[in-house]
Amino acid sequence: MPDPQLPLPTPTLDNLEFWQGVKRQELLLQRCQDCGNYTFPPRPGCVVCGSTRREWVRSSGRGKVHSFVVTHQAVHPALRGKTPWGIVDVELEEGVHMISNVVGCAPHDLRIGLPVEVVFEDVSAEVALPKFRVVA
Ligand SMILES: [Zn+2]
Repeated sequence: MPDPQLPLPTPTLDNLEFWQGVKRQELLLQRCQDCGNYTFPPRPGCVVCGSTRREWVRSSGRGKVHSFVVTHQAVHPALRGKTPWGIVDVELEEGVHMISNVVGCAPHDLRIGLPVEVVFEDVSAEVALPKFRVVA
């Protein structure tokens, strides 16, 4: 029996472009063409002005850890033996927040304000995930 895997994202019409970008190692964000607001996760309309005129723009991929949690419980069978497990809320330079992990950083080394940049991790033939690494 294969090792259990964490559930993978299922692209929808709203976020397909985002996931295709991640697979190409590009972090794309929706930007409102009327007010300039960045929206994440992708939605049909702007959360500020309601406009449906949106464009996809490439994020700098840079940000900082806004918040984090370290879990010592394997809340999914795929996490058995991998705890403690750090989960971060990264605030990107564009102002949006993204829930992810910081690779190459022990969970007890996570800090609020830690500068990070995006990296991409292929998790299947079709799906990659945006993760982050600490920048000096
Ligand atoms: Zn707007």
